[in-house]
Amino acid sequence: MLRFKSNVARSDPFSSYSQCLYGRTRGTGIGSGLIADGHLYHGAKGASGDIGHIQLNREKVPLCRCGKVGCLEAHAAGWAIARELRANGFEAEDAHDVVRLIDQHVPEAIGLLREAGRAIGEVVAGVVCILSPRTIRVGGTLAAEQEYLVAVLRERVYQRCLPLATNNLIIEATSTSEIGCLTGAAILLKQKMFTRDGSVLLLKRYQEWRLEDFDKK
Ligand SMILES: [Zn+2]
Repeated sequence: MLRFKSNVARSDPFSSYSQCLYGRTRGTGIGSGLIADGHLYHGAKGASGDIGHIQLNREKVPLCRCGKVGCLEAHAAGWAIARELRANGFEAEDAHDVVRLIDQHVPEAIGLLREAGRAIGEVVAGVVCILSPRTIRVGGTLAAEQEYLVAVLRERVYQRCLPLATNNLIIEATSTSEIGCLTGAAILLKQKMFTRDGSVLLLKRYQEWRLEDFDKK
């Protein structure tokens, strides 16, 4: 899970909680959220920041959960690393098991996480070239292993981007608190729903749901 920031206003709640809106907190996927000028950027369809399904140029093209092959997630998400570890005879179901194996200094797990950091770094480098953010925060279960994931990601971004974009760029791990996710979701809901337009939209949807129920009966 990644959060990109540039010129964030201190008073904006997303300056603290934005990462939760797109990211997965249990290492089940890879996503990102962009805050520009104190606002979370949604994109035309609300799907902005979905970097997990960008395809990498690799010889190996593992199947992704989305049905495509070679996505960043299929290489670097917690579930993908666990899948690779299982194929090599280790007991690993999810990102927590990956972290457990790394804490036990299992070289195969460490190697796979470092490779994941390189893969994520490649995609993030592309984002940095386009958006030139001030800060990149990395969260999620695997980010707890900063030494391997964040350090390698940082190395790859610095390697691939021009100094103008990386001179003052901060890349660091952030909190993986579940409360942070809930708070971010609540702020988004408040901003979307408790406005005049949001309330009208909610009432219209409620009306549609009621009509659908009526049709079923
Ligand atoms: Zn995918």
